[in-house]
Amino acid sequence: MDEAARTQEAHIEVDPAREPVDISCGILHEIEQHARESFPEECCGLLSGDDRVRFRRLHKCRNEMTRLHEAAPATYPWDGRFAFHMHPLDYDRAERDAAARGERITAVYHSHVGARAYFSHMDLAFAARPDFPFPGADHIVVAVVDGEVARGERALFRRGPDGPTFHGHPLRELPA
Ligand SMILES: [Zn+2]
Repeated sequence: MDEAARTQEAHIEVDPAREPVDISCGILHEIEQHARESFPEECCGLLSGDDRVRFRRLHKCRNEMTRLHEAAPATYPWDGRFAFHMHPLDYDRAERDAAARGERITAVYHSHVGARAYFSHMDLAFAARPDFPFPGADHIVVAVVDGEVARGERALFRRGPDGPTFHGHPLRELPA
């Protein structure tokens, strides 16, 4: 399926009228650097923080979607260029590391390659799975085109207080 066909499926766009969510420029640049390093595949990882600073620390995870796709293409129809699957050892380690510092996992981040920073139907399906490890976390998406981070293409997706529906918020970059 090409990009135009994929984006026609149900997905959530950022709504510029929604309240922006703050993130430090340091953390945002770490996400963007991970996205560049991972090109042409999607990067993925976690952010941890506390009540004072929600996004304080970045924890990279390996994207094992290409390995899963090669082992079981019927179950995993996309490889790591089109989807992500965090390595369980990596997110377990991140969760322990965060807890040891008095923090909790507050966001899952990943990149899109050759696409914009929306919440795709696959992202939605993944986040809504009963075995998704971080149901209360926000989701941050950045976009990479031709190996470079696409300017302004970043957004945060968060469940509303009224239920399971995700809404797209702009990210507001704060000085470190
Ligand atoms: Zn995605």
